[in-house]
Amino acid sequence: MSRYDRQTRFQPFGEDGQTKLSNAHILVFGAGALGTHIIDQLARMGANHIAIIDMDIVEISNLHRQTLYDEEDAYHLTSKVQAVKEKIKKINSNIAISAYDVEVNSSNIEDIISEVQPDMIIDGMDNFKVRFLINEVCHKYQIPWVYGAAVGSKGTIYGIDHQGPCLKCLMQTMPETGESCAINGVLPPIISIVASYEVAEAIRYLAGKGFSKQLITVDAFDINYKAMNIDILKNKDCPVCENQEYDLLNLKKDNQIESMCGQTFLFRLPKHAFDYANHFPGNVIKSTSFAKLIQYENYEFTLFKDGRMNAYGIQSDEEAQGIYHTLLKSIR
Ligand SMILES: [Zn+2]
Repeated sequence: MSRYDRQTRFQPFGEDGQTKLSNAHILVFGAGALGTHIIDQLARMGANHIAIIDMDIVEISNLHRQTLYDEEDAYHLTSKVQAVKEKIKKINSNIAISAYDVEVNSSNIEDIISEVQPDMIIDGMDNFKVRFLINEVCHKYQIPWVYGAAVGSKGTIYGIDHQGPCLKCLMQTMPETGESCAINGVLPPIISIVASYEVAEAIRYLAGKGFSKQLITVDAFDINYKAMNIDILKNKDCPVCENQEYDLLNLKKDNQIESMCGQTFLFRLPKHAFDYANHFPGNVIKSTSFAKLIQYENYEFTLFKDGRMNAYGIQSDEEAQGIYHTLLKSIR
C-alpha cells in the first residue's frame, strides 16, 4: 500500500493533488509553534521540497506548544532549523529541507525567495512586521501565501492570492505588539487548529482548488468559529495590492533595538560581539558555536553568532536603550 494511500483516497485531493503537493516548493517562515506544526504535517503528507527560515534556538519554554522539539534540543541550545531538519529526516526521509538560520528582513528576503522559488509561502511567524514584509514580497512576485496567527485562545487564518485582498487591506496599520503571545499567553490547541487550517488552505490551493476565500477566526477555549467572505475586505486604495508600493521591502535598514513579545527586546550588535561575549557585564552561562546564554543581573541574553541578541526581562524602551549601550561599550 502506498505511503499516502489514506489521503489520496480522499477524492477531492486524490493522486493528482498528491503529485502536485510532492512537486511544489513550499517556504515556511518561522519554525516556532505554528511553523513546527505546519512542517510536521507537510512532511508527513509528502511535500517533498520544504524551505524553512528561523533565527532562534530551542528553549525549554517552547516545548509546551512547539512539536518536533524536545528537552535535549533545549539543553544543547540547538538551532530550530537544525532540530527541524533532524526530526523531519526521521519522519520522512524523502523530504528535502533547505534551512535558513537567519533573521528575515528587507535586505535578505528577496534573495531567499529567488533561491527557493516557492510555489507557496506559509506564515508561521508571531511578528507582524515580518508578516507585512511577506505580504509585500508575495504581491511583488505573485506568490500565493497563507497568513495564520494565534494569540491566547484565538486564531485567524487567511489564504491570500494576487487577486484578492492582501494582508494590508485587512489591517491597514500594524497591530500593537501588545497583542502578543508573551503577554497574553497562548493555548496549545489553538496552535494546532490554526496550523491545520493553514495547511488545509495551502494543499487546496496546490491541488488546484484555490483558497477558500474566507477569513477564518477560531476560539479554542470559548469553542467557536467564524468565517467571513473576503470580497468585501478589498481596499481600493491599498498601497500594496492596488498601488504596488512596497515600503517595508524598500526600507533596507533595520533598527538596532526592537521591542518583541512582552518583556523581550531584540538587539542588533556588531558581528564581533559573539567572539567578545566574555567582555560583556555578567556571565556567559552556556556556549555553543551557534549561541551563547548570558546572565546579567536580572536579565537573560541569548546571543547569536551574527550579533543578534534576544534580551529578556526588560521593562521599558528606556531601559532597553541603556542596556544596549552598556553592552556595546563593553565590546568596543
Ligand atoms: Zn491590499
